[in-house]
Amino acid sequence: LSGLIDELRTVVEPAHVLTDPDLVGPYVTDWTGRWAGYARAVVRPSTVDQVAAIVRACAKAGAGIVPQGGNTGLVGASVPRGGEVVLSLRRLAEVGPVDLAAAHVRAGAGVTLAQLQAVASDANLRFAVDLSARDSATVGGMIATNAGGMHVLRYGSMRAQVLGVEAVLADGSVLRRMDGLVKDNTGYDLIGLLCGSEGTLGIVTAAQLKLVAAPRFRVTSLVAVAGTASAVSLLARLRSLAPLEAVEIVFADGVDLVCRHAGLPPPFSQPYPCLLVVECAGSTDPTGEMADVIGEGPDVLAVAVASERAGRDKLWSWRERHTETVNALGIPHKLDVTVPIAELAGFERDVRATVSDVAPGSKTILWGHLGDGNLHVNVIGPDPDDDRVDEAVLRLVAARGGSISAEHGIGIAKRNWIGLTRSPADMAAMRAVKAALDPNGILNPGVLFDEGAGRAGSENEGSG
Ligand SMILES: Cc1cc2nc3c(=O)[nH]c(=O)nc-3n(C[C@H](O)[C@H](O)[C@H](O)COP(=O)(O)OP(=O)(O)OC[C@H]3O[C@@H](n4cnc5c(N)ncnc54)[C@H](O)[C@@H]3O)c2cc1C
Repeated sequence: LSGLIDELRTVVEPAHVLTDPDLVGPYVTDWTGRWAGYARAVVRPSTVDQVAAIVRACAKAGAGIVPQGGNTGLVGASVPRGGEVVLSLRRLAEVGPVDLAAAHVRAGAGVTLAQLQAVASDANLRFAVDLSARDSATVGGMIATNAGGMHVLRYGSMRAQVLGVEAVLADGSVLRRMDGLVKDNTGYDLIGLLCGSEGTLGIVTAAQLKLVAAPRFRVTSLVAVAGTASAVSLLARLRSLAPLEAVEIVFADGVDLVCRHAGLPPPFSQPYPCLLVVECAGSTDPTGEMADVIGEGPDVLAVAVASERAGRDKLWSWRERHTETVNALGIPHKLDVTVPIAELAGFERDVRATVSDVAPGSKTILWGHLGDGNLHVNVIGPDPDDDRVDEAVLRLVAARGGSISAEHGIGIAKRNWIGLTRSPADMAAMRAVKAALDPNGILNPGVLFDEGAGRAGSENEGSG
């Protein structure tokens, strides 16, 4: 063990090989407080060559590696289970310059989403993915989770923004596809494969990222409706809006908690069962077009509209502050799921009833990205290690033809249920890929798969 630490101290400056528990602390507990473990060390390289040398040293010592960016992941995959080396990529934080003609930018794995957005904006362009953890979430983490966020319905998730990747593989070799070519059908799509691989196939050190035109106008509406069925029928009309960027859903109980936690006033003078945040953006003012579509429906109970930044931020705050509010109430069971949009209303009804049956007295808070059929099911009350609620909700999802992980990944949190929506043939193919790229299972052991490849360096697996 000390031999590995000594070797790591020859690769990066000793000050960037942390073993002091006070310094290591923030790297070994996840954002939710649900997952924690022990790390042999936290290593903070600043170049791709250092990352490659660290991987080689760990491979030689048989030590597992947990890659980490902003540590905002929500499935327990960014923190050690027991005895791995945490490889923090945050110091790989170079970004730019923007290539205006190609509309792309090179960003190091440790660049935060907020930094990337600022660089794009300075070039009168924009990075299309947005999510509330923008100040901490990093490019590497967002690629590794194939992050989604608010604008997937228009621009797709992270995978759709990635034109190139530089990554260190499990043997320390460097895969470099950084030409930024929009068209390149030369063999397998290894870039796409790394997107959503949760640190189990390679360590992303940099990426070439697509940028899109920055809209001149942006308009946000907060729309009150009677429930999920009405929200879905409004969504069907909203699809006709070419500049539609976001359709988010929240419910009265969640909004009430957000108001109390964040000290916000209620959004309307009376409570409504369900609210949608609808946003359009484009080169012409979409206000009239939006008003025509939203105003058409008998199911619309109230509307607030804003086009200036401060007003829009206020309308978003009732949606965006859900995650932190729920975390402040306790350690939530977080189930980020998708169901076909036609199934959403039935799923919402069933999920509330099922959780009440399985865990009477618990609190179920739902919100999500309606346009993607993606609901975040958060349950407060059951002990963190009591997974009966998780099991029941994920079975409902599978029964309705959905996915047990919409955008947060599988990590540790959902690996026991991956077989609900992936067939044996699918699992065998995924295991074969893992075995080919990481035969000794040193990259994020225990994530995605709970046995076989993926156990290196885990001295005692557990959750905190
Ligand atoms: C308030 C809040 C709101 C959120 N909203 C959304 C949302 O709307 N949509 C969404 O998709 N997610 C959301 N998330 C989840 C989270 O922000 C995303 O998963 C994000 O992509 C994680 O980025 P990170 O840098 O923090 O990665 P980490 O948490 O550090 O790591 C996440 C995973 O990526 C791996 N990893 C990290 N860096 C690398 C690298 N360089 N190479 C290889 N593997 C790596 C880790 O091992 C781990 O498996 C939210 C989280 C919070 C706290």
